[in-house]
Amino acid sequence: MSQQQEEIPVAETAVDDVVEEAVDDAIADATVDATVDAEATPVRPPSKPGLSPSRANDFLQCPQMFRFRVIDRLPEPPSPAAARGTLVHSVLERLFDLPAPERTLEAAHGLVPSQWDELREHSPQVTEMFPDAESLAEWLTSAESLLGTYFTLEDPTRLEPRERELAVSTELEDGPQLRGIVDRVDVAPNGWVRVVDYKTGRSPRAGFESSALFQMRFYAFVIWRTRGVLPRRLQLEYLGDGVVVQHEPTEAEMVTFEARIRSIWAGIQDTARSGEWRPRTSKLCDWCSFKALCPAFGGTPPEIPEGAVERATGIQVAQVA
Ligand code: SF4
Repeated sequence: MSQQQEEIPVAETAVDDVVEEAVDDAIADATVDATVDAEATPVRPPSKPGLSPSRANDFLQCPQMFRFRVIDRLPEPPSPAAARGTLVHSVLERLFDLPAPERTLEAAHGLVPSQWDELREHSPQVTEMFPDAESLAEWLTSAESLLGTYFTLEDPTRLEPRERELAVSTELEDGPQLRGIVDRVDVAPNGWVRVVDYKTGRSPRAGFESSALFQMRFYAFVIWRTRGVLPRRLQLEYLGDGVVVQHEPTEAEMVTFEARIRSIWAGIQDTARSGEWRPRTSKLCDWCSFKALCPAFGGTPPEIPEGAVERATGIQVAQVA
C-alpha cells in the first residue's frame, strides 16, 4: 500500500467519451456499463442475512456492539461527525452532475445548502445536534473545509466517474449476502477499474490501516465476483488530513479475503448459537452509543426481539421465555 497522490490513467478518462449516469438510476436498476459489467446482477432486496464491511468490523471490534447494532437494531443518536460525512459525500456525488468545467470548489460550496436541506428532510433529527445558528454555521464551515481539502487531492474537472454511490452485492454460497455502497468507480479507456472511497476523518496511523483496507478489499471482492473484473486500484481519500491511500489488489488476495470473510461469518454464527455476545472493551468504548446498556460498564442489555437473531444471522435460537 502506498500513501501518495499519484495520478493514474484511470483518472484521465476523456470527458466527451463518457456517458454520465445518475446515481439514483444506478442504484435503482443497477444497470452498469456493459464493458465492465456484463455479469452484473440487479440489486434486489436481501434474501438472506447480509454483511457489510462496517458490520463485519463491528463484530471484530466488539461482539456486544454488533448485537446492539445488528441484532437489536437499537437506534443511535446522530453525531455531528457522521452527519458531516453524509453531507460531504452527497455534495461530492452531486458535484459530478455538473458539466466538467463547472466542478469548482465554489460550485461544491454552493451545493452545501441544498444537500443540507435534503439531509434534514431525510433525517430531521440531525437538526437537534445544533443548539443555535452559530454552532450550525460552524459545522457547515467545517464541511466546506473538508471539500476544500478534496480539491487539493483531485481535480474533478478531469474525472468522469462511471459510477457514484453504487450499491453492490453478491451472495456467498453457504454464507451471507455481502453488500455495500461504493462511493465512486472510475474506469479508464483501457478498462482499468479504480474504486474510490471518501473518508471525512483523518488517515490511520501506520500499522492501523487494516480496517480501512478491509473495507476496500470487500468492495474489490464483490466487484470481482459480480463483474469478473478485479479493480486495478483501491483508493481512499482522507479529507480530514489530505492523504490518499492506494492499494492494488491481487486475485490471490481476493481468495484470502473470501476465507477471511467466511471466518468472520462463522464467528458471528457461532456467537449467535451460543448467545454470548461478549463486550470487548477498548478506547473506542468512549464513542460507543450503547455504553449505558453495556454489561462491561454496569448496563443491562434489553431482551433480544423474537426472530431478530435469525433475521440477522440465519441462526435459529430458542427464545428465552
Ligand atoms: S461500550 Fe465498549 S464493550 Fe460495550 S458495547 Fe460498546 S464497544 Fe462494546
